[in-house]
Amino acid sequence: MPFMISLFTAKSGNSIASRCREDEATRLRLRYKPYYHTFDRQIGTHVWLGGTEMIMLSSNDYLGLTHHPKVIEAAQRGLAEWGTSTTGARLSNGSRSYHQQLEEKLAAFLGKEACHISVAGYISCMSAIQAFAQKGDVVFGDKNLHSSIWAGIGLTQAKAERFAHNNPADLRELLGYESPETPKIVAFEGVYSMEGHVAPILEILAVTAEHNCFHVMDDAHGFGVLGQHGRGTANHFGVTDKIDLIAGSFSKALASTGGFVAGSREVIEYLRSHSKQTIFSAALAPAQAYAASAALDLLQSEPEHLRRLWENTKRYKQILHDLKLDTWGSETPAVPIVLGTKERAYRFWQHLMDRGVFTVMSIAPAVPPGKDLVRTAISACHTDEDLSKIGDAMAFAARRL
Ligand code: PMP
Repeated sequence: MPFMISLFTAKSGNSIASRCREDEATRLRLRYKPYYHTFDRQIGTHVWLGGTEMIMLSSNDYLGLTHHPKVIEAAQRGLAEWGTSTTGARLSNGSRSYHQQLEEKLAAFLGKEACHISVAGYISCMSAIQAFAQKGDVVFGDKNLHSSIWAGIGLTQAKAERFAHNNPADLRELLGYESPETPKIVAFEGVYSMEGHVAPILEILAVTAEHNCFHVMDDAHGFGVLGQHGRGTANHFGVTDKIDLIAGSFSKALASTGGFVAGSREVIEYLRSHSKQTIFSAALAPAQAYAASAALDLLQSEPEHLRRLWENTKRYKQILHDLKLDTWGSETPAVPIVLGTKERAYRFWQHLMDRGVFTVMSIAPAVPPGKDLVRTAISACHTDEDLSKIGDAMAFAARRL
């Protein structure tokens, strides 16, 4: 045995270091090199990669507000008034009036009593589960939920059950196995980030009504995109009061970074003192909060961005439909193009790159087997000229599949 260990270490270094070279995800990353591209410059939907100008077709800047003059001016004001960082947690010395103002504004916009903001949507989604689920509880999560919710579940001692994606009948069956006394959380996304699917919320609520569940919805991709003035997926279905917690991100329609969880005052106050992610981590920086706040105002004062987003989405989907590309039934501006194998996804992605369109490849195990895809997203900022160039690039890539 000692001989085997010394052979192994002589060849590969220690086992953690060798894992970093040899695991499946690393081998795929090194083979295809589709990730961690670094842009030298950006103007709206145009980015420069190694000096080459490209159209960005995978960012989540849905409303195109990252370069809006009012958002930039607000972020600069945040910096001028408060400096660069809070350098402290909300619980201790990091709370500022601009946090509170943004929370109140967001809660009112969403139609909830209270809201808690944090440094990232990932953190907010984690805390929406971690702060509440305990040993003896069961968390039922849609199989295709974002990593942030699974990470939150992983930090608790609750039992996790996965139900088939957007399948309330499967959820009903799983709920039926648990005793009526067991506290239950049901977690789903308003809009699924990879698939662009909208959750069948009315059907989910019909199923959970019999089981006294606590509902957590990650609406990172529905917020700013669906509902009145972009109030999100719960507003779209008219069920805001039925969803206990709505979590989301500032890094998509709100053109900033940060995240939120909104709910009843009592539940949000509980989260403030039970979310480890908040208690032990510094508060949102001023420029980010000011940018999100300005973007939130724009959702209401300039509805043309949301209109343009949907017009662009319609036109883009028509292009893909005419080329007979499989968009996995996406109903939103998050649009996957399913190619079915790693090789086809890679070829398609590379052809788009060659034609000046930047997208992101997502391959198994990040997506279910047979669903290897190129993930795209439309922005209100895409011009007619952008869309026709995107159309030409798609036709070029589709012909060469
Ligand atoms: N939830 C979903 C569904 C997401 O797509 C993302 C970001 N990709 C997050 C949460 C995390 O948001 P953030 O980027 O603000 O951390």
